[in-house]
Amino acid sequence: MRAVVMGGAGFIGSHLVDRLVADGWRVVVLDDLSSGHTANIAGHLERPGFEFHEVDICGDWEVAGGVDLVLNFASPASPPRYLQRPLETLDVGSTGVRRVADFAAAKGARLVHASTSEVYGEPQVHPQTETYWGNVNPIGPRSVYDESKRFAEALLAAYHRLGRVDVGLVRIFNTYGPRLHASDGRVVSNFVDQALRGEPLTVYGTGQQTRSFCYVDDLVRGILAFAAAGSEFGPVNLGNPHEVTVLELATLVGELTGTEVNLVHHDLPVDDPTQRRPDITRASELLGWKPEHSLRDGLAHTVDWFRERSNSNAVKVFA
Ligand code: UDP
Repeated sequence: MRAVVMGGAGFIGSHLVDRLVADGWRVVVLDDLSSGHTANIAGHLERPGFEFHEVDICGDWEVAGGVDLVLNFASPASPPRYLQRPLETLDVGSTGVRRVADFAAAKGARLVHASTSEVYGEPQVHPQTETYWGNVNPIGPRSVYDESKRFAEALLAAYHRLGRVDVGLVRIFNTYGPRLHASDGRVVSNFVDQALRGEPLTVYGTGQQTRSFCYVDDLVRGILAFAAAGSEFGPVNLGNPHEVTVLELATLVGELTGTEVNLVHHDLPVDDPTQRRPDITRASELLGWKPEHSLRDGLAHTVDWFRERSNSNAVKVFA
């Protein structure tokens, strides 16, 4: 079996690649390395049957040979990244997704596309079910990501209705774990990095806003179960329903890093959602899936990884 992973050098993509390789798949990674890193897939580059191609999914690219599964995880995903590249983000969700859909159709492969909890915007239904249509400001700064992901869902729903491709949508909620980049700008990577450096943790707004954080291994298990779920379209929410405030997260990061927590408050980004929690009934009924890692347990692994990485960077700096 052979899989093509778009964005396979990125945070979630590279964890998918690890799992697929471990399960015996031949894997082709396409990534423009705008936010991914070859270090994330370095262990596979010399492996027979493994391919990596540095390409922009909106450009001209092709993969020769048979393909059974296409996983589309190519997109800027953290707020600072997509706000820095607003037009590219819109292109990725429109032109890029269309190219990927045509590619999967031509290969006769199942396509699993990474959608997002951001399609729910500032949710007025809590927790969020897949039947909720969302509440997105179409012209706010965040819309370049939210609307691009909503457009991609509309595009793939049309492909599905036309019977052009076997496609499924996963709506991914906040995810964390090893390989989150310290400069990514997400709350987990920022807090862990700041705590380990002895810096104050940057809380945007009051810190009373909530998120529900899923450990990346749990997410990957859910995505691959969905990929294997026949011709299921979904969409299906994948996330951990354990909801915490940003302040509670800060306290836990302080505890797990063994540091005293000092906070510095910054302005809340425009249209930052007040609350977010997945209803995962559909995923549990359809796939028998639920997350297994608690936030404490997953964060402890993440802190260990950040510690090891900063130690190995220190070795490089002083070598
Ligand atoms: N946030 C924060 N401090 C940071 C980064 C983010 O307080 O250093 C907040 C952000 O405003 C949001 C939440 O943490 O309310 C989650 O942000 P993140 O960028 O990780 O993901 P989002 O859910 O916004 O895509």
